[in-house]
Formats: sequence, C-alpha cells, structure tokens
Amino acid sequence: MKISAPHMGHLHLMLADLFQRMGVEYVKPPPTTTKTLQIGAKVSPEFACLPLKINLGNFIEALEAGADSLVMAGGHGPCRFGYYGIVEDRILRDLGYEFDFYMLEPFNDGAWKFYKLFESLSPGLSIRSLWKILKVSFSKGRAFDRLYKRALQIRACEINRGDTSRALKKAEAVLTAAYSPNEIEEAAAESMAILEAVERDPDRQVLKVGIVGEFYLLLEPFSNFGLEEFLGHMGVYLERSVWVTDWIAPNRNNIIYGYPKKLVKQKAAPYLNHNVGGEGQETVGSVVLFAERGFDGVIQLLPFGCMPENIATSILPKVQQYHDIPVLTLAFDEQSGRAGVITRVEAFLDLLSARRMKRNAGVAAPLEPAAAAMSERM
Ligand code: SF4
Repeated sequence: MKISAPHMGHLHLMLADLFQRMGVEYVKPPPTTTKTLQIGAKVSPEFACLPLKINLGNFIEALEAGADSLVMAGGHGPCRFGYYGIVEDRILRDLGYEFDFYMLEPFNDGAWKFYKLFESLSPGLSIRSLWKILKVSFSKGRAFDRLYKRALQIRACEINRGDTSRALKKAEAVLTAAYSPNEIEEAAAESMAILEAVERDPDRQVLKVGIVGEFYLLLEPFSNFGLEEFLGHMGVYLERSVWVTDWIAPNRNNIIYGYPKKLVKQKAAPYLNHNVGGEGQETVGSVVLFAERGFDGVIQLLPFGCMPENIATSILPKVQQYHDIPVLTLAFDEQSGRAGVITRVEAFLDLLSARRMKRNAGVAAPLEPAAAAMSERM
C-alpha cells in the first residue's frame, strides 16, 4: 500500500511520522502550486469550496506520483466538509483513477470505527499499539505547531529578513528526525532554541493582529498567498485561532491557540449562540477574544462561498463596533490574485498604525508596516 493525503500546512510532517510507525508507505503529494490548483479546479464543480479544489489537485498529483490509496478526513454538517471525501472519491473514479479510498471519521463518532479504519491500513495493528502510535505522533505534531506558532511572533522583530523562516526550516529538520518519545522531547527543546536564537530588535514597535477564519485557509499557506510570512516581514506580531493539532484533537481544548473551544463559543454567544459549521462560531468568539486582549486588528480568511464564515462575516460588523476592533475580511477562490490581497492588507495595516498612533498621541515614530511595505514593493 502507498497511501497519500492532501496537504494542509505542515500536516504532512505528522502524517509521515504516523504512517512510518504503522509500517505504511506514505506518498507525500508534490508541494501545492498554481498548477495543483488548476488541475483541481478543472475537475471540480464550479461552486465547490476552494479547499476541495486544492485537495483534488493534491490527490491527482499524488496518484500520478504512485499512490494507490487515499485518505481523507470525514465529518458531518452543517457545512459541506463532510461531503468532501465522497465527492472527491466520485470525481477521481469518473476520471478513471483506480485506488482505495479511506474516510477517517472524527474520533467522537465512535472509537471502534476510528480504530477499524487504522486497522484496515495496517492489518494486525492492535488497539494498544494504535493508541501508543497516535500518542507519540500527536506529541510530535504538537511540537511542530508550537514551533510554527512561535515563529509568527519572532518574525515580527527579526533583524535580518528571512532569518525566522530559515531557522524554522532547520528546527523542523531537527524535530522530523526524532523518533522515540525521549528524542522528540529533546528535539522539541533543541528546535525551539534554534528559533529563539534568531536575532531580534526588542524595541521594535509592532502591530498585533489576530488571524481567524476557515480552518483550511488558515492552515495552508498556499491558499492565502503566504499571508502570515508576508505580515511577519512587515513587522506584525501574529496569533492564529486554528492549529493543526487543536483541530484534530477530539476534546478541542485548543492547547496551541490557548483558548478552549468552550470559552471561544461563550465569547461568541451574545452574537451567535449556535454552531453554524466549520469555524463560523469560533471566528466570532475569537474576534472578541483578540479585542479583549488589546490586539490592534483581526484578519478573517475564508474561501469564497464558505457558508459558516459568511455567517460570521455578516455578524462581525456588530462585534467590531461593540469591541472597537477593525476586522479585514479576505475571501479567496481560484480567481484571486496576490497583488489585490496584498494591497488590501497594506491599507489595513496603515489604518491600524494610524489608530495606534492616535491612541498613543505623542508617539511620533512611524510603526514598522509603512516602512516594510515600501521595501516589499521594491
Ligand atoms: S468550512 Fe467553508 S470552505 Fe470549509 S468545507 Fe465548510 S463551507 Fe466549505
């Protein structure tokens, strides 16, 4: 068996580790590119969500690279995500591809069903062994998330542009090589030290921006034109409301984000008090949380036509007004262009800088973004 799964940020690092422990050959799809999106968009229904189109592109490229089995996360409403796997399976077979397809339904749908899926991938795998494997791989996934989270904060103050991204690559390699629980623990500390060693300007005045929205758009840099790295280079400190391991964890205690789903939903309740699917409710609650924590602004990312995020978008003007926090909403589809997105983000950062300067009346020094934006254009 040669198994593959679609890209979603650094998820492939955890999957490679998991399948190695299970004794299953993992085919990492080629990195997502414009070509991947074009391939997926060509075979997808026009109004399908952008993530489905990119997923299909990843699957086709993985099958062309030799994969004979595909795995996809399942789920159930109220948005379309639960149908992704079924639709993708049907489209690929109509195109003439032959493969085995596995739907990984959420753990909360039943532990036995969850176990049987893994057992079908690795016959003879006991429940005990699976539990041990998942525990170790998940701890490694947590360590990757911690690195990526810290990088969002360090990048804002780096002295030499690109140092954080280069350090992150080195740190990622150290962690990838670790196998046993002890090695992972040591590698997590060593890789974090590599990141912390990035030379920084402690006096730099940075804007603090929260990133919220649909999980795929937040987790997959290709889908948002590498927005986080761009913002970091503009000297913006970032925190994000969705992380890979938080999203996977059945209890959704959001260890990486730092705010459990229950609390986020409580914050959203005055504006939206029920689940609308995806991250719709969490988006609203997270904007409230970022406002309460004194962030300068929030950027919401969503695929064009995403039902849960569109519901959140329609509610956010009220939240902005009540909590006095600007929110920039960016919707993406296969027609989106980087230049248009960047222009809007730059204008938003100028607005945030002006607000900050007004608030700190008397502070004459311009904040980083304006200067950084100039150099980005050169
Ligand atoms: S959350 Fe939005 S983009 Fe994601 S599957 Fe649901 S509707 Fe589509």
